[in-house]
Amino acid sequence: MKAKSKKLTNLLLTILQTYAREIGCDTCFEHLDRYVEMTLAGKDASAVMPLVYRHLQTCPACREEYEALLKVLKRS
Ligand SMILES: [Zn+2]
Repeated sequence: MKAKSKKLTNLLLTILQTYAREIGCDTCFEHLDRYVEMTLAGKDASAVMPLVYRHLQTCPACREEYEALLKVLKRS
């Protein structure tokens, strides 16, 4: 049991460390459609995917992609 919880702690640490890192355009793009879908569903996508949100704030290229996707999905 103890060994198991240590494993879990390590796993959580790995996730947190990964999460603390900035994401790149590739990763942003991977999550972008889900992000847009959530936004259109009225959910707080920035709270669920803060790294995507952060990337969109700092990357004009992905921001443009996001807005284009938003427009397309809004229409359908
Ligand atoms: Zn980008």
